[in-house]
Amino acid sequence: MFSKILIANRGEIALRILRACKELGIPTVAVHSTADADAMHVRLADESVCIGPPAARDSYLNIPQLLAACEITGADAVHPGYGFLSENARFAEILEAHNIEFIGPTAEHIRVMGDKIQAKQTAKDLGIPVVPGSDGEVTTSDDAHAIAREIGYPVLVKAASGGGGRGMKVAQTEADLDTALSTARAEAKAAFGDDALYMEKYLGKPRHIEIQVLGDGKGNAVHLGERDCSLQRRHQKVLEEAPSPSLNAEQRDAIGEIVANAMRKLKYRGVGTVEFLYENGEFYFIEMNTRLQVEHPVTEMITGIDLVNEQIRIAAGGDLDMTQDDIKFDGHAIECRINAEDPVTFAPSPGTITYYHPPGGLGVRVDSGVYQGYKIPPYYDSLIGKLIVHGRNRVECMMRLRRCLDEFVVDEIKSTIPLFRDLVDNQAIANGQYDIHWLEKYLADKSN
Ligand code: ADP
Repeated sequence: MFSKILIANRGEIALRILRACKELGIPTVAVHSTADADAMHVRLADESVCIGPPAARDSYLNIPQLLAACEITGADAVHPGYGFLSENARFAEILEAHNIEFIGPTAEHIRVMGDKIQAKQTAKDLGIPVVPGSDGEVTTSDDAHAIAREIGYPVLVKAASGGGGRGMKVAQTEADLDTALSTARAEAKAAFGDDALYMEKYLGKPRHIEIQVLGDGKGNAVHLGERDCSLQRRHQKVLEEAPSPSLNAEQRDAIGEIVANAMRKLKYRGVGTVEFLYENGEFYFIEMNTRLQVEHPVTEMITGIDLVNEQIRIAAGGDLDMTQDDIKFDGHAIECRINAEDPVTFAPSPGTITYYHPPGGLGVRVDSGVYQGYKIPPYYDSLIGKLIVHGRNRVECMMRLRRCLDEFVVDEIKSTIPLFRDLVDNQAIANGQYDIHWLEKYLADKSN
């Protein structure tokens, strides 16, 4: 096992990782920017190192500083969390070259899945269903028109280096296609410095369903069921739940087994998430995230498996100590992402938390690094915590969630808690009938 783990992240996820390390009895090193000197993960870690000024590129993304912090403290492993350097293959390689373990998959797997065209081809080769579309990059308008005729309109033009929904344009009909190509190309070039494009059939009312996997890098892998993350705003997940209200046990086992098998063939190491759009009973691969996800707690709540503990054990060379038959799904879990934002305009609302009262009780988990008196810095994303609720079934889970949202107080800043209070009382949400466009429409209707 590792003698000391450096946590290359901040906020709630740094604390989440620290908790797993403590339970395993492994000493921890927190790193922080000057803006995060008072953060909870810094206070609770065994040691801490300031790695630079507030801007992430000078601190949390600063590889030489992180290496120096490992050197000074003697950390022999780094957990990257999510975001920042978690999907940076180069970082994984540099750590390896310094005999420091990167708690995550191999650099090669990170690299393949980080390139959208390669990822899709790899998924296809591994037997995972993908969205019909171009075979790789589309270069000419003539090719694009031929492919669109074959797959049928509407079509989606996507950037090979895409992320956060940028460089993505829909063409409803043939007349729109050339404009979609040129605007997507310009956007991709500006955002990623790479104007390579590919094309897919545009799905009108899909759900976002993702499969959690865990592998040991030796050919053993299991799936831990799905998470439904269809409630999104601007391609950002807002609320996640497991199991999905739209899948039955047979469908879950079928797609789960396909994905787990693919991971066995790939000899995938660590945790990963294979993301799908799901429409009319069919799954379509969109991407694979080779890291821990923000919404991992909903899976932990219904399986009882500590995903961070598994990541650490496997990175230290441990075998997968469970088979697919050992994994049982118990009840229902929902996560709300609490952001320091205006619940109507979504404008960021940094500032000082003058009063803080998180909910508690049976089946309630709050993952957050904030406390009363904490000053939210304006330099990072606006996630201040996650409320995760478990119940024996979806109805009980929703009732518990409503109670928790009533109890949750985060003053004087604005937060998205009131939005969730509205959502739990909505009929479509109660019925589990929503697709990836539902929330945007709901918010547009509300503001009219
Ligand atoms: P990014 O990496 O930019 O987030 P993704 O491929 O993960 O790009 O897609 C982001 C979002 O765009 C998806 O969650 C979904 O809402 C939408 N999307 C992607 N591909 C399609 C498609 N073929 N049809 C309809 N919507 C899509």
